[in-house]
Amino acid sequence: MFANLTALEDGAHTDFCIIGSGPAGLTIARKLAEAGKKVFLCEGGGEEISEESQDIYKGEVIKGEYYPLDISRLRFLGGSSNHWGGSCINFEDYDFKAKKASPRGAWPINADDLNPYKNEASEILDVKPVPESVKLDMAGDYDWVIDKISHGRLPIPQQQKYLEYLKAKQNLFVFLNSNLVDLTTDGEKIEYASFENYQSESRKIHADKFILATGGIENSRILLYNNIKNKGKLVKNSKTLGKYYMDHPLDHKAGYAGFFDHNITWNFPFELFAPQEKLLNLYEILSFSCIKDTTLKPWGSNRELADNVNKRLNKKLQGISPESITKDLSYTNLFVFPELEPVLENSIALGSNTDRFGVPRVELSIKVGESFFRTKRISCLILAKYMLEKKLGRVKLAQHILKEEPAAELEWGNHHMGGTRMAETGEWGVVDKNCLVFGQKNLYVAGSSVFPSGGANTPTYTIVQLALRLVEHLLAQRA
Ligand SMILES: Cc1cc2nc3c(=O)[nH]c(=O)nc-3n(C[C@H](O)[C@H](O)[C@H](O)COP(=O)(O)OP(=O)(O)OC[C@H]3O[C@@H](n4cnc5c(N)ncnc54)[C@H](O)[C@@H]3O)c2cc1C
Repeated sequence: MFANLTALEDGAHTDFCIIGSGPAGLTIARKLAEAGKKVFLCEGGGEEISEESQDIYKGEVIKGEYYPLDISRLRFLGGSSNHWGGSCINFEDYDFKAKKASPRGAWPINADDLNPYKNEASEILDVKPVPESVKLDMAGDYDWVIDKISHGRLPIPQQQKYLEYLKAKQNLFVFLNSNLVDLTTDGEKIEYASFENYQSESRKIHADKFILATGGIENSRILLYNNIKNKGKLVKNSKTLGKYYMDHPLDHKAGYAGFFDHNITWNFPFELFAPQEKLLNLYEILSFSCIKDTTLKPWGSNRELADNVNKRLNKKLQGISPESITKDLSYTNLFVFPELEPVLENSIALGSNTDRFGVPRVELSIKVGESFFRTKRISCLILAKYMLEKKLGRVKLAQHILKEEPAAELEWGNHHMGGTRMAETGEWGVVDKNCLVFGQKNLYVAGSSVFPSGGANTPTYTIVQLALRLVEHLLAQRA
């Protein structure tokens, strides 16, 4: 039910206090309430977007070219699911392991730990269950995977889907306009959290367990700030806190894929083209996916396309006999979606400006490195080779891809990942494999900030799988 923060007795107690109502927090709150627990869901924004809440998200990008932080996320009930694209796919098995090109990318869990939650995650996000990868029959060194992207055609904001439920559920108390401003620990356990509304009224809340689900950037910001306030007793080893930040740098203009057959373009056998693990290690590249753009246009016959591909293929991929093209082509823009290597330097830090609650605003650094450019070039060449060998068509790659240079405009997926990474020990991360903050007994983190690496798939499906897994862990603990 919707409740008013100021109607709450100061120091009130609940079983679970969940902070943030995006896909992560909302999933956890609902599931715990379903299990009969008393749940407080504290959301900094209201039912609709507001300037006063959105203002808290303002920050500065101090290194790299990135979107303004207050427009790439939404701060109200439902979080960024209010403007997300709805693409959902699970991470590849190999995305949970360290790669040659990403030695710091290993997760302390693997795909099998998340697979049991696939069907429920699909149901929550309104997508068809994501089918298993289909292997292509490509001979030789190259083994391919096709993954069909499972897409909610009209992505439904989570708050719309669950609004009536949230209003009706008696043991789930939704506090809107309730901003977490303080987390106080005795060194091992969160004693209480303080929340403030836009009228400067505040309340302390005690809970058996707190779950921080404030989104990929705020989770780090809140822990960084409160760690200072708690004199380092909140995240005792804070070496990685706010570090290894990631997003997906997209390239919608990596080139053109031209198809011989107009019909095949519409039924082209992949929606999303991803490699097998051995290919990544062979070329020492990161994960990638190549996605066909749905806006196809007919194009005239073009010998240049074939010549271009054959000229440009790098040595390892050569040995292809050119086809002469006589038929008309249809083409689509080639859209590449590569992984960004998690590196210490890409980070979320606290600046000197503060928001209305006195919390320092974010200073964010994000740069792409050499492995990113190499991954883009090789992945496009691999796709070109596939199309040649299967006699499907030709790929003409943009110059910036071939020269491993930045695109004219760098685009991002708005997938905010890393900062409170999951690890085996506090030396390498902020939370353990159950999302519990190292050194604390009752503080958990939910959302993509816990991802140690970001693969080349959209994050929300994995966020929801992790949220469902966390609920199971919490309920098992309390049994
Ligand atoms: C334009 C766009 C398109 C996207 N498309 C896709 C896509 O196609 N597929 C995909 O998988 N992902 C996509 N994403 C990413 C997706 O939206 C996020 O992965 C997802 O919303 C993250 O869920 P979350 O619950 O972790 O965090 P959020 O959705 O960010 O929710 C965090 C919640 O915490 C609240 N909060 C923040 N600070 C406080 C505080 N101090 N106190 C109380 N509450 C607080 C916020 O108001 C918000 O409601 C897209 C994002 C954008 C911006």
